[in-house]
Amino acid sequence: MTNTHRSEPDRRSILRGAVIASGAAALGGALGAAGTASASARTADASASVEAVRPYLYWRGAWGARPASGSIRVLATPPRYIVIHHTATSNSTDYTLDHALRLSRSIQNFHMDTNGWIDTGQQLTISRGGHVMEGRDRTLESVGAGDHVVGAHVANYNGTCIGIENEGLYTNASPTRALTDSLVQTLAWLCGAYGLNPYSAILGHRDFNATACPGEVLYSMLPELRDGAARTMRAQGIAIAEREEPGGDGPTYPPVPENEPDHEFYHGPARGTEDLTR
Ligand SMILES: [Zn+2]
Repeated sequence: MTNTHRSEPDRRSILRGAVIASGAAALGGALGAAGTASASARTADASASVEAVRPYLYWRGAWGARPASGSIRVLATPPRYIVIHHTATSNSTDYTLDHALRLSRSIQNFHMDTNGWIDTGQQLTISRGGHVMEGRDRTLESVGAGDHVVGAHVANYNGTCIGIENEGLYTNASPTRALTDSLVQTLAWLCGAYGLNPYSAILGHRDFNATACPGEVLYSMLPELRDGAARTMRAQGIAIAEREEPGGDGPTYPPVPENEPDHEFYHGPARGTEDLTR
């Protein structure tokens, strides 16, 4: 597996993502030839807006990712949910970029060497210094294209969920302001790029699997994270999609287990029998 993609999605990918975000494709279709020009203008505007909220991202080359050991699966459909995790590592006070890049490497090593996965499991990682890193290979190009790269972070739901791992353990402690700000921006970007409604799409790991992840404190912040993402989108003129009703593949809200394994990097079930990849 080569690792040659760039951190910046190309223009065509951005436009494809924007079509989904704005619903402009359907609009153009309904209007026919007469509506094409204005629909195209709307699409270009929407793509610029989504691009404007995208956080600065450190792609895999920046953190020295190992190549994936198997083929990366990309689905030509957007994810339905954005799942918030904590990394179950220490609440470090090292907020440097160097520390953030090391964190990405250590998570990947754990996922590949201990879990036996083909790559790091989550699609994105955010450090306590607020640095945002690409996780699983091909994530950035997939978001830009409105596609879903399948990871390993939420058991049995990896085909429909994109995952963000947030550095730290949030059972009792709060995330840093820098992390929270980057997380809100990342959520706004993903909701815009995929045409998701923040209020129905943003969920915690514990909403799907029996785990405490992302910790009581970060989990209780979900309403404010959703508000923050919606506010950011509105400020940038990004259309907010209709709220989606949970279907058969929606969250099941299992009880939080009392005796969950307690070790670094473990934040609950990440792969299940229904998952397509590892
Ligand atoms: Zn988790």
